[in-house]
Amino acid sequence: MSKNVITRFAPSPTGFLHIGGARTALFNWVYAKKMGGKMLLRIEDTDRARSSQDAVDAILDGMKWLGLNWSGDPVSQFENKQRHIDIANQLVKSGHAYKCYCSQDELSKMREEAKAKGLPPSYNGLCKEITAQDSPKDIEPVIRIKTPFEREIIVKDHVQGDVVFNTKNLDDFIILRSDKSPTYMLAVVVDDHDMEVSHIIRGDDHLTNAARQVVIYNALGWDVPDMAHIPLIHGADGAKLSKRHGALGVDAYRKMGYLPAAVRNYLARLGWSHGDDEIFSTEQMIDWFELDDLNKGASRFDFVKLANINAQYIRNEKPEYLFSVMLELTKELSMDDDLTGLKENEQTVLNALPDLQSRAKTIVELVQLTQFIHAKRPLLIDEKAKEQLNDESKEMIFSLAKNLDALTEWSLEEIKTCIKSFAQEKDIKLGKIAQPLRAALTGGLASPGVFEVMAIIGKQESLARLADQSC
Ligand code: GLU
Repeated sequence: MSKNVITRFAPSPTGFLHIGGARTALFNWVYAKKMGGKMLLRIEDTDRARSSQDAVDAILDGMKWLGLNWSGDPVSQFENKQRHIDIANQLVKSGHAYKCYCSQDELSKMREEAKAKGLPPSYNGLCKEITAQDSPKDIEPVIRIKTPFEREIIVKDHVQGDVVFNTKNLDDFIILRSDKSPTYMLAVVVDDHDMEVSHIIRGDDHLTNAARQVVIYNALGWDVPDMAHIPLIHGADGAKLSKRHGALGVDAYRKMGYLPAAVRNYLARLGWSHGDDEIFSTEQMIDWFELDDLNKGASRFDFVKLANINAQYIRNEKPEYLFSVMLELTKELSMDDDLTGLKENEQTVLNALPDLQSRAKTIVELVQLTQFIHAKRPLLIDEKAKEQLNDESKEMIFSLAKNLDALTEWSLEEIKTCIKSFAQEKDIKLGKIAQPLRAALTGGLASPGVFEVMAIIGKQESLARLADQSC
C-alpha cells in the first residue's frame, strides 16, 4: 500500500532563500501536490548564533512569492530540543549510544594516531565501555551513537540509486553535545520521524549525512523515509554556483523583474525534465513530476535561459496582471508614480501592454518600455537620439506632421498608411523616417514601433512632441 506522502522543506535560517533552496522547496512541494499529500516546513534553527528572525522572514517571503505553500505552522527545530535530549538519553539506556568524557587533547591525539595510520580522523571508541560508576563526575559528557562496526549501510535513493556506505568510515559520531544541544544528525532524524515525514528530498550535499542518519533510525527501530538527494546547481561554466552565476536570494530575482511562475518553471528544469518540454504550466509540472525522473548530473544555472522563459511568460500574461506586478515592483524599488507615471496613465499603459509585452524579458524592462507614455514635454533627448535629429530630419518631421495632422481618424492603420505614402512620395526609406521620429516621440532609440507609439500616446501628444523637435 502506498504511504501517505508527507514531504518537508527544512532550511537553516542563516540567510535568504537562495535559488538552490528554492528548488529543493519546489520539488518537495510538487511531489506532495502530485501525491495528494502535504509539504511541511521546518526551520532548522538550532544554531542559535547563526539563525535570525530576519532570515526566517526572508525564507517565508520567498516561498510565498514563489507560491510554495506549506501545511500547518512552520516548525521550529530549536523548540523540540527537550525531545531530542530525551531520545539521546533513551539511546544511552537502550545501549545504542554512550556518554563520552574525552577532552579536546585526547580527541586531537586520536586524530593524530588515525592520521599516522593513514585512516580518516575518527573517534576510537575509548569511552564506549565506561560504566556509570567509573564515569568522571566533574565533566559534562557528550553522547555518541554506537555505530555498528564494519557494516554496510545502504541509502536507497530515488536519484542516486542504492548508495553503499561502510560504517567504518562513519565512527561513533556525537548526537548530543555537552551543553545538551542536539547535533543536526539527531535533530533531523527525530523531527522527521515525529512529523511523519515519508519522503526526504534535499541537496546531495546531505548524502553522507543520510548514511549517519540511517544509523540513528536503525538504533531507534524507526522506518527510514524514502530519500531523493538532488545534485547541486552549478554555474553556467560548470563551477560551483556563486553570486556571479546567480546564487542570489529569491527576492533578488523578484527585484530583477522575474515572474514567480517563470522562476518556478525554470527551477523545475534545473534537475528535472519531461522530454524536451521547456515551458509548462504548474499543473502540468505536478501532473508529470516523478522522483525517479530527477536528473543524476549537476545542472547549470543559465541566466539567458531564465530570461527567455521569463520573456515567454510575460508575453502570455494578461495586461492587468502585468500591470499589478509593475506597480508592486516599482513601489518596492522606490520608484514612485512621479517617476514612472504608471498609475497616472493606467488606461494608456493597459492599452499599450499587448504591444509592449512581447518586447520585454523582465518586468523592469517592461516598465522602461512604458516610459515614453509618461515622458513630459519637451522630452529629454538622449545622446544617441540627438544624432538622429539634424536639420534635414527636422524638416522632414515638420512636413510629415502636416500630413498626420490632416488625418481624421487616429488609428494604427491610418498612421501607418500616412507615413508609408509620405515615404513613397518623398522617396525616403521607411527606416530613415522611423529613427528620427522615434527620437522625437520618445527621446530615445529603443521603443516599440513608431506607429504604435503614436497610436498609444494619441494625436495631440504625438503632434506636440513632433512640433517640439521640428523646425
Ligand atoms: N537544514 C539543512 C540545510 O539547510 C537541510 C537539512 C535536511 O534537509 O535534512 O541544508
